[in-house]
Amino acid sequence: MSMIEIVREEMRKCDAKTLRSVRLNIGQMAAIVPDSLSFCFEVITKGTEMEGARLMMDVIPLKGYCNTCESEFEIKDYVFACPSCGDTNIKTISGQDLAIVEIEVD
Ligand SMILES: [Zn+2]
Repeated sequence: MSMIEIVREEMRKCDAKTLRSVRLNIGQMAAIVPDSLSFCFEVITKGTEMEGARLMMDVIPLKGYCNTCESEFEIKDYVFACPSCGDTNIKTISGQDLAIVEIEVD
C-alpha cells in the first residue's frame, strides 16, 4: 500500500512523532470502498507511529470533458457519453485516483 509509504515519508520530512489524521480524496472510479480502506489502514498502522490516526475521506465524483462540444459534466452510472451532444469522444478529468490531500502530525 503505497499510500502508507507516502505518509511515512512526509512524517520523516517534518520529523513528526505521531500521526493525527490523514485526509484523502477518493475518486469514484478508483474502485476503493472507504469502509474497507479505513479498516485496512487500521490494520496496517497498528503498532506504528501512525496508529490511531483518523482517516478522513472525500469521495470525488467522476467528471468528464467532451472533446466535441468542450463541456464538462459529471459522469453518472458510468455512462461515458456527453450529456449535451451525445458524443462519446470524452475524457475523464477527475474521480479516478486516490490522493492524499493533507496529513496532520505532532
Ligand atoms: Zn459534447
